[in-house]
Amino acid sequence: MFAKLLYNRNSLVLNTSFKYFSTSHARLKEHNCKLLVVGGGSGGCSLSAKFARNFQKGEIIIVEPSDVHYYQPMFTLIGGGIKKLEDSRKNMRDVLPNKANWIKESVVEFNPQKNAVTISNGDTIKYDFMLVAVGLQLRYEAVPGLVEALNIPNSGVCSNYSPNHVNKTYEALQKFESGNAVFTFPNTPVKCPGAPQKVVYISEHFFRKTGKRNKANVTYNTSLGVIFGVKKYADALWKVVKERNINVNLRTNLIEVQPEKKLAIFENLDKPGEKTIVEYSMLHVAPPMGAPDVLKKCTDLVNEAGFVNVNKDTLQHVKFSNVFAIGDCSSSPNSKTAASVAAQCNIVYKNMKAVMAGQNLTEIYNGYASCPLVTGYGSCIMAEFDYDLNPLETFPISQDKEMWVMYMMKKDFMPTLYWKLMLNGYWNGPSTVRSLMHLGLRK
Ligand SMILES: Cc1cc2nc3c(=O)[nH]c(=O)nc-3n(C[C@H](O)[C@H](O)[C@H](O)COP(=O)(O)OP(=O)(O)OC[C@H]3O[C@@H](n4cnc5c(N)ncnc54)[C@H](O)[C@@H]3O)c2cc1C
Repeated sequence: MFAKLLYNRNSLVLNTSFKYFSTSHARLKEHNCKLLVVGGGSGGCSLSAKFARNFQKGEIIIVEPSDVHYYQPMFTLIGGGIKKLEDSRKNMRDVLPNKANWIKESVVEFNPQKNAVTISNGDTIKYDFMLVAVGLQLRYEAVPGLVEALNIPNSGVCSNYSPNHVNKTYEALQKFESGNAVFTFPNTPVKCPGAPQKVVYISEHFFRKTGKRNKANVTYNTSLGVIFGVKKYADALWKVVKERNINVNLRTNLIEVQPEKKLAIFENLDKPGEKTIVEYSMLHVAPPMGAPDVLKKCTDLVNEAGFVNVNKDTLQHVKFSNVFAIGDCSSSPNSKTAASVAAQCNIVYKNMKAVMAGQNLTEIYNGYASCPLVTGYGSCIMAEFDYDLNPLETFPISQDKEMWVMYMMKKDFMPTLYWKLMLNGYWNGPSTVRSLMHLGLRK
């Protein structure tokens, strides 16, 4: 039998209500909160900050295992040597709101029928409302030979997608002398679908700047059937790759790396069994990604692909009305970017508040996503679009052009916007700016 012990609230590490459970093996705790936020990344941190303004201390619990919060959109620039890894990181304790209780563990089991989760130290957390914001899981191990290749110093294999590997990209660029520079896009959902090709453009420009371009054969192998999902920007990108003599192979998926021979093996997704073997000098890999394993285990909570099953308009769970999801782990079919997270913040905030107050949901998410397609040192195409892949541009100019000002926004303005406004719950995407720029004619 579990026994409830008396406790003194002031003596607890966490200022939240909980009970002790005594088992034959350990003393486990049961925490209780009004709002449980699972994940302290872009979505979890921003939304906790919004709620923390109105909630009492102790009413919000955030479960997040990492000590460090990364601004991942900066990884592209780090790979190009434009920013340093330190510029992209802050201590988690400095970005999470003080009024929320941070438990530095992972959720290992969701139990939405009981409004409860189990965390990695064995404790249970019971909640009235839950926001799931656990992001995507990187699956480097799904490509045989890739992890080994990434861990061999100076192997030429690199990946902007992980803070553990992003510095290898600039190292590989600097060490590159001649041969094939190959870049990949996996056959899975990805975060920032533009990132696997931004590194192609930056690398190609780097080779030109350093006089190595005529010795480099630059190839982008993508599993997709298009260079970019939105036609307006895809047309602009095809021009860029043609002008700069970059080879693009569609429906071509990396399936194996043999680091000892510096070989990358690709499958043709349209012709089962057909493989191409490429000898590389540099190989940049966007790894396979997917919903985190912990979500996949809870079939009540997720769709068949393992993403939290929400209504794409309201972002409320289709079955559990007290559960919402934000960001990369959600089933909403938008492009998975931090820009989408910003646009989702106010939708989720207002709709969750409505549920808490027993009112109807009023806010509708239009699928807004943005992708600053950096095309070199000093140029960027700022793609912005909605669920239907229609452009939804903030500025009253056609944004399918390579522009210096957009590059500066990506490099200097957006990081400040992220750290100062978004993570403090004050940035909900550019819809108001867009409306002003278009004289109120565009939402
Ligand atoms: C190379 C690269 C370039 C990018 N470029 C851009 C860009 O230019 N523009 C843009 O808008 N977006 C970009 N993105 C995408 C953007 O970073 C993500 O879409 C965004 O961070 C998603 O936010 P999130 O809160 O859903 O997930 P994350 O920010 O990834 O946060 C998820 C959090 O959940 C935690 N977590 C995981 N599992 C558990 C668990 N079991 N229990 C508790 N916590 C858990 C993790 O530790 C993490 O802190 C880029 C990403 C990468 C990698």
